[in-house]
Amino acid sequence: MIYKGVFMALKIWLDGKLVDEADARISVFDHGLLYGDGVFEGIRVYSGKIFKLDAHIKRLYQSAKVIRLEIPLSQSKLVNAIEKTVEANGVIDGYIRLVVTRGTGNLGLNPFVCEKSIIFIIADNIQLYPEELYETGMKVISATTVRNHPLAIPPQVKSLNYLNNILAKIEALDSNVPEAIMYNHEGYVAEATGDNVFIVRNGVIYTPPVEAGALEGITRGVVIRLAKEENLEVVEKNLTRFDLYVCDEFFLTGTAAEVIGVVEIDGRVIGDGTPGTVTKLLRKKFFEYAHGREK
Ligand code: PMP
Repeated sequence: MIYKGVFMALKIWLDGKLVDEADARISVFDHGLLYGDGVFEGIRVYSGKIFKLDAHIKRLYQSAKVIRLEIPLSQSKLVNAIEKTVEANGVIDGYIRLVVTRGTGNLGLNPFVCEKSIIFIIADNIQLYPEELYETGMKVISATTVRNHPLAIPPQVKSLNYLNNILAKIEALDSNVPEAIMYNHEGYVAEATGDNVFIVRNGVIYTPPVEAGALEGITRGVVIRLAKEENLEVVEKNLTRFDLYVCDEFFLTGTAAEVIGVVEIDGRVIGDGTPGTVTKLLRKKFFEYAHGREK
């Protein structure tokens, strides 16, 4: 990590120990690498406090349960390991990547030959979108890559298998925009490649239900709560491409992005082409909440 302009090697928590970045190695036979077989979480640290850690831990164990992955550590010991890693790296405002892989196996698919799952934790600086993008808002496109069918890979599982999202991200980058909106097999909005989707129309906030094919974002949950506290109506409802094109405001939420306005999709300008008032209000409320300046 770069700290005050100086490069500092990270301490990585790997399989029970804090080790130097250069020594944090896992086997080429790890099924996390060979098959994307594993689960993970991205977590923020704000003003020295780990944000929504309980919710992330719950989601991690839930994802692991669904893919029949045993996490070889109790939840409290894992929390302890995360706290130690944050402390060892002096992270005050940063990002934690918590990964559990299936572990070392052989070249076959069988996950049960893997001896034991491997946990590693990285705590580092965060690479957010450039600050000016929050002021101007971002442009996005609709991806042609369809979101994974929920009966194929449940989108609520935060697995190491991100190829579906990566294909859509490539479409975005090919179009010179940072994000793409993914639709499900029925044509309804699912989510962005790494964020959840919200729109505002006639003062009401809409977001697709998780069943449309979205990860149940922790930021999404916080933003829904904050919006309700501001007496804003929030409706979970299937959204179409049309709904996105004609909305008054459009924003994305996610651990890394927080709350970011979208001002154009597929060449259609949203509102007056700048992040709207509800978007700005929720971004501000989220910031205050995350930094503990509000209950
Ligand atoms: N959808 C996807 C596909 C994601 O990877 C993420 C996390 N980056 C989100 C939504 C947002 O979830 P959270 O708010 O929990 O970070």
